[in-house]
Amino acid sequence: MKYSLAIHGGAGTLRPEDFPEAQARETRAHLHDALTAGSAILAQDGSALQAVEAAVKVLENSPHFNAGHGAVFNHDSVIELDASIMDGTTLAAGAIAGVQHVKNPITLAREVMLRSQHVFLVGEGAEAFAKTCGVEMVDASYFHTDRRLRELRALQALEAAGTKRFGTLEASDLKIPDKKFGTVGAVACDRAGHLAAATSTGGLTNKRWGRVGDCPIIGAGTYADDTTCAVSATGHGEYFIRACVASDIGARMRYLGVSLEEAANDVVNGTLVKLGGKGGIIAVDAQGNITLPFNTNGMYRGALREGAEAFVGIYRD
Ligand code: ASP
Repeated sequence: MKYSLAIHGGAGTLRPEDFPEAQARETRAHLHDALTAGSAILAQDGSALQAVEAAVKVLENSPHFNAGHGAVFNHDSVIELDASIMDGTTLAAGAIAGVQHVKNPITLAREVMLRSQHVFLVGEGAEAFAKTCGVEMVDASYFHTDRRLRELRALQALEAAGTKRFGTLEASDLKIPDKKFGTVGAVACDRAGHLAAATSTGGLTNKRWGRVGDCPIIGAGTYADDTTCAVSATGHGEYFIRACVASDIGARMRYLGVSLEEAANDVVNGTLVKLGGKGGIIAVDAQGNITLPFNTNGMYRGALREGAEAFVGIYRD
């Protein structure tokens, strides 16, 4: 069987005029790099699980996406990272939230899945566990980028000006520089027909009070089950959590007998739109079919099926 891999780097109001050419070029190059990293593993008969972790790590290490280096700041100018990973064969899963010093949160999520007796670890406890696994730790300044600090300051200036608006969605209405959701993710089907999904994020700019979105919540931002599909989401987490987006797509395939494409489209352009939830998902099924629906006007995304040319896109076309 042939392998398939899809990735995303966030969805939102993405328009060519908002991007300096050099930034757009580098962003596309990093999406290609992520596809290359994941497919190199799949091409050597590696597992879907290894491939999604490798692809997400490339995107976490890039400053162009809201995950790892380049993640957004919270209200207190601190970067708190969330991630999750799931193995569609065993339904094993690992998730972490609110870590501040783990270079690649997706690797820590994998460690939680493989080495702890738990599924979801948060904050200081997750970091203490990271140290026992030998996961690479970094100073918090490693994650900082000037661009994200400017976005935070712009949002906070709006708050200080007395606007009732709050959060990334409202920022996009008000023309804050980077009008998109962040988060990166990968889904894969390997040559054995096994599926996996991985998602990693800094969450929403200016988030407060330990806010955690859908990304590390198994069934909301991430889900994988060999009998249906693997899904990784990006968008306004408060909506994705309530719609159980990732698991609902698989459930529709199982209970309604519909295709991956139909199930994903019904959730992203049906359920989420009715709720007011903006964003998108990437998904793959055990036949290697890929779908990349989004209800915003853009989503950083890429896909590759064995033997076919890689696709990378940002805008709707
Ligand atoms: N879903 C993420 C969250 O709500 C953010 C994003 O995808 O942009 O934390």
